[in-house]
Amino acid sequence: MTSSPQQAVSADFVVIGAGIAGASVAAELAKSAHVILLEMESQPGYHTTGRSAAMFAPSYGPGPIRALTRASNGFFLTPPPNFAAHDLLSPRDTLMIARHDQMNELDATLNQIADETPVKRLGQSALRQHQPLLREGYASAGFLDMAASEIDVHALHHGYLRMFRATGGVLVTKSEVLSLSKRHHDWQVQTASHIYSAARIVNAAGAWADSIASLAGVMPIGLVPQRRTALIVASPSGINPQDLPLTVDITEKFYLKPDAGQLLISPADETPSAPCDAQPDELDIALCVDRITTAFDLDIRRIHNKWAGLRSFVPDKSPVVGYARASSSRANTPHDDGFFWLAGQGGYGIQTAPALARYAAALVQEQSPPADILDQGLDPHTIGPERLADAADRQSP
Ligand SMILES: Cc1cc2nc3c(=O)[nH]c(=O)nc-3n(C[C@H](O)[C@H](O)[C@H](O)COP(=O)(O)OP(=O)(O)OC[C@H]3O[C@@H](n4cnc5c(N)ncnc54)[C@H](O)[C@@H]3O)c2cc1C
Repeated sequence: MTSSPQQAVSADFVVIGAGIAGASVAAELAKSAHVILLEMESQPGYHTTGRSAAMFAPSYGPGPIRALTRASNGFFLTPPPNFAAHDLLSPRDTLMIARHDQMNELDATLNQIADETPVKRLGQSALRQHQPLLREGYASAGFLDMAASEIDVHALHHGYLRMFRATGGVLVTKSEVLSLSKRHHDWQVQTASHIYSAARIVNAAGAWADSIASLAGVMPIGLVPQRRTALIVASPSGINPQDLPLTVDITEKFYLKPDAGQLLISPADETPSAPCDAQPDELDIALCVDRITTAFDLDIRRIHNKWAGLRSFVPDKSPVVGYARASSSRANTPHDDGFFWLAGQGGYGIQTAPALARYAAALVQEQSPPADILDQGLDPHTIGPERLADAADRQSP
């Protein structure tokens, strides 16, 4: 018996992965094009997007991230009409704390960010006024980031998915991309039940972005998914957790923040992992309790909830956004044509999503990057995939 060839479903763009990266860029692209968004899970936020600490902290991350975060602020404050039922941000100060032996790290961070973000340096007693759970004598100094907020991640993500569908975008869940090939000028994107065809594909597959590149025969970017653990514990009686700032060790070895009347704590672990449904590890849980109770006056008797998620990075910790390009030592292969990276958002993919989505949508459509994003000091080379090929070229003999 011969089966007739499967009919491909065509679109201008196929976006792979419906986490915050894929949902937001798909929504931007669907304003002027036919877009199909493929997600392997039944719930689009199942992986990293649904597991974040939900912070918008303009002082956090390397320079390109801070520029993209500033450029996202306007969208968070004034999203499009009917995007969300309530505000996307609620104020939540961020307090960075340093022990006596961490003063150099504190000064270096302050030097980097002081001109960009309203921060206030604090001494020991002021730190404890802002964070009453801090153990006496633990931290010597720190600073308060007063531009920080908490993000309603579900509202942001689902706002983008609604915006996407409202402009004719098609989200297909339970559709894992199994193979990618080129037919004439178009990519053929194969799932278990369908073939989708488009001249351009956007790889927004989070921790799986390098696996998608391998399926397509495109050179991977060396993405390393890193597991991070979060625990929910009770807040001590007599303290209203809602009033507490996010409190972070200056070298990012732990953090604590309020979470729906309880406390979210993390050892800020960065354990390399294969792409997977990440689960917390008992050692990281023990490490977390130890680091948190060393810094804070907390008696942790019970873990009320726990999870882990993968934050995926390339070595410079900046995202990778742009069409795949061969390194100068490698001939451009036809596979590279029309394969667009939107990956490596690491620990900052929620707070940077609005600017990254607009920036990526412009580049996918071969338009100039939005001027307001460049005006925040973003140098396109610092997030382009070609910087990785250039670095690889420099290292090869
Ligand atoms: C504990 C923790 C705390 C964090 N805190 C913050 C924070 O406070 N602020 C902040 O901005 N960021 C934070 N982050 C980082 C942020 O969550 C990520 O940067 C962001 O969610 C990445 O989004 P994504 O869409 O790239 O990835 P994902 O949400 O993982 O989405 C990728 C999607 O691709 C799909 N996919 C993969 N392979 C395929 C395939 N073959 N076919 C179809 N679909 C596929 C997956 O199912 C997945 O849904 C945190 C992360 C963690 C883990």
